[in-house]
Amino acid sequence: MKNITVIGAGTMGNGIVHVFAQKGFSVNLVDISQASIDKGLATIGKNLDRQIKKELISEGDKSNTLSNIKTFTDLGEGVKGADLVVEAATENVDLKLKIFRDLESLCDANTVLATNTSSISITKIAAATNRPDKVIGMHFMNPVPVMKLIEIIRGYSTSDEVCSQIVELSKSLGKVPVECNDYPGFVANRILMPMINEAIISLHEGVAGVAEIDTIMKLGMAHPMGPLQLADFIGLDVCLSILRVLHDGLGNPKYAPCPLLVNMVTAGKMGVKSGEGFYDYSNGFKDAKVSGQFS
Ligand code: NAD
Repeated sequence: MKNITVIGAGTMGNGIVHVFAQKGFSVNLVDISQASIDKGLATIGKNLDRQIKKELISEGDKSNTLSNIKTFTDLGEGVKGADLVVEAATENVDLKLKIFRDLESLCDANTVLATNTSSISITKIAAATNRPDKVIGMHFMNPVPVMKLIEIIRGYSTSDEVCSQIVELSKSLGKVPVECNDYPGFVANRILMPMINEAIISLHEGVAGVAEIDTIMKLGMAHPMGPLQLADFIGLDVCLSILRVLHDGLGNPKYAPCPLLVNMVTAGKMGVKSGEGFYDYSNGFKDAKVSGQFS
């Protein structure tokens, strides 16, 4: 696999493009929004500069990486010649089904189709195509250039051949692939999201404030980030979508999203990407303060 197309230039898409391009793959980045593409490329540039500052890469590596990336707003143009498509568009089931139906008609018969979905059924996404054996979950972690894990999810019909191809490809990116089966939330989010939801419920019920909940979990459990700041970092809309998938897919009321989370997403408070969630990011991520709503 040499030619990779990544769909979506948001939080995850730009990170996925970064790691493939840095390893010498030729990468096409597709997004419906030119503004998202521009923001995604700017983020890649900033993250490469950070790697230069840490002396992990040289200026030459940066320009080689950037020269491996082409951008498109037209899906048909962007998937031409792709050996692998990694879809990292918004977490919405209808949107993903439409993208995979389109990919089926636009891509070569041999192109492998991967999705970075956090929770949506790989089997359901695969069923929107005529090649369910070539559809697989490739769940990168945020921030992609830093995090080692890729959760590899086998849909009901994913072939052994495609699975081992993607495992080997993930290793060639310097990542650690770990396989699991296709059930709502897979492993990572089935365990993480109930913890985040419980932190939001604790805030909503007045058990403690934002800073107290995060500090207790950071210092008490040795987590690098408290659950409320982690929710902001992931995106509150993404957290809500995943909880809805867990709730619908497993039919257990314990996964019902906290009404406070629903309200915040409805109000446009998505966390870091919108500038405010449980924290206010107007002075950047490092100097975030508890949002005025909660202080
Ligand atoms: P995001 O909201 O930051 O970015 C989504 C991007 O998709 C936007 O740039 C949007 O313009 C683009 N988009 C929407 N419809 C499109 C279409 N039809 N064609 C092309 N582009 C389209 O979202 P994100 O956080 O990067 O999440 C992307 C995927 O990755 C989701 O499936 C999410 O569940 C998953 N994921 C997210 C995280 C996280 O921490 N945020 C972690 C792992 C996986």
